[in-house]
Amino acid sequence: MKVTDHIKNANGKTLFSFEVIPPKKGKNIQDLYNNIDPLMEFKPPFIDVTTSREEYVYIDKGNGLLDKRITRMRPGTVGICASIMHKYQVDAIPHLLCGGFTKEETEYVLVDCHYLGLDNVMALRGDSMKDEPYFKPCDGGHAYASELVEQIASLNRGKYLHDDIEVEHYSDFCIGVAGYPEKHMEAPSLATDLKRLKAKVDAGADYVVTQMFFDNQKYFEFVEKAREMGIDVPIIPGIKPIAVKRHLQLLPQVFKIDLPQDLIDAVEDCKDNKAVRQVGIEFAIQQSKELLDFGVPVLHYYSMGKSDNIHAIAKALF
Ligand code: FAD
Repeated sequence: MKVTDHIKNANGKTLFSFEVIPPKKGKNIQDLYNNIDPLMEFKPPFIDVTTSREEYVYIDKGNGLLDKRITRMRPGTVGICASIMHKYQVDAIPHLLCGGFTKEETEYVLVDCHYLGLDNVMALRGDSMKDEPYFKPCDGGHAYASELVEQIASLNRGKYLHDDIEVEHYSDFCIGVAGYPEKHMEAPSLATDLKRLKAKVDAGADYVVTQMFFDNQKYFEFVEKAREMGIDVPIIPGIKPIAVKRHLQLLPQVFKIDLPQDLIDAVEDCKDNKAVRQVGIEFAIQQSKELLDFGVPVLHYYSMGKSDNIHAIAKALF
């Protein structure tokens, strides 16, 4: 079922959902299921599965020279989605990236998703590769998520890239996109970033999932400004519980988000990461309670591989 239909059918009740990351190549998929299993108690209507950007690897050619190759360390997104749907009878949402995919490759992935019965896809640009200062689309790939949304919406209307074919069975993907309450790191201002978000919705996006944020006021203002601009699709808040002390540096550095001083102080006072995890859980429970009172359609959690903290948060709320 489409995310937007799940929201409609909930009649104003806030839903619980979360995002998982495919295992690294060669690792056991069972670890992923072991993390999903306990969360099924809270009846998530859908689970997101991320797609990783490619990375450069250096292969020793044996003559003292290194060969630079590109690889994707966490493949399998669409396969994992199919497996989650089959195993848990819930909707699974693959994240599709502009980065590293040509439009043709994206079309093939969409055809796979359609045949597998996936009703939703999340359309994202992807970040720049580690060794590159800014995002570069690959030859024949999309430069912005709005273009990817256009491709998916166009396929929903039966328009394939190159083939003028008679379509008997149309895809009907519900399309999610990313939104940034503290603006995307490359955007010159929040107002400009919101214009870009509006362009994604105008191109066919059906709902928005936000980047993590820790100050609900930023989300409330973001929603208000989005509504003023005519963005009328559901805006689902993304929540990340702090789990290790290193997050104090890492999250602002990687995601360009602010952390509230009371959270920083509480984490700094912790004597070990077990205590940090508990602080993260308690903070996320309070944050989620305020969002529930606001009437958000879904509380969407970033699990980043380990789900015990998400379980503790959901237990307190759902
Ligand atoms: P876009 O919407 O294309 O925006 C990127 C930047 O370009 C913004 O600064 C925007 O303001 C600007 N922009 C947009 N259109 C134009 C235009 N026409 N002209 C000039 N500037 C423009 N990354 C992954 O690699 N894998 C994942 O699975 C993944 N999942 C995510 C899930 C969520 C909910 C979120 C919030 C992010 C996720 N990301 C993921 C990260 C995401 O790929 C990065 O944040 C990326 O840098 C931007 O992606 P986007 O889709 O928001 O890009």
